[in-house]
Parts: sequence; C-alpha cells; structure tokens
Amino acid sequence: MKNKKESKKEDKIFDYQTICNINTSKEDRKKLHIGDIWSNQIKCKLCGDTIRSMNLHHYVVCKCGSVAADGGSWYAKRIGYLDNIEEQSVLFKNR
Ligand SMILES: [Zn+2]
Repeated sequence: MKNKKESKKEDKIFDYQTICNINTSKEDRKKLHIGDIWSNQIKCKLCGDTIRSMNLHHYVVCKCGSVAADGGSWYAKRIGYLDNIEEQSVLFKNR
C-alpha cells in the first residue's frame, strides 16, 4: 500500500528537461508548452539543499523548510526566507 502511494506521487511529477535540452528553440518549446527557464533551481543557504521545480505545478521545498521554488519553465516563483536563497536558475539559450 505504501509503495503504491509513493510511486503514484512520483508519476505525477513530470520533468520537462526529459523532452528538451538547453538549446531547444523557442518554436519547438512552444509546441511542447515549455517556457524560457531551462533550470528553475535554487540552493538553500541554511541547509545546503538544492531544489528544482520540474514543471509549472511542481512546488518544491528544501529539507529544512526555509525556502521553496515553483513555476517550472514558466516563472521562477520563490517562497519563504528569500535571504536564504542562492539563485541557480539557468535560461534556455534561444529566447
Ligand atoms: Zn533549507
């Protein structure tokens, strides 16, 4: 029962990086519904955890709960204690 629940949760998270790369053109990304952010990633200065929002609805919190990221390829939403965030986001080459 527990295993079923866990795998279900994993299935829900779709990582758009699996269907494109940093050089994918804006035209191709439009067809795939992917925005301008290649890697929506931050590091928490408090616990050292590196987290990445893997799609538009993927809200991810660091280990200590101090900071969070959301928005996937579309917008870099940051939640929590912003002073604890080390920004590591990378944009697509073609914008
Ligand atoms: Zn943290």
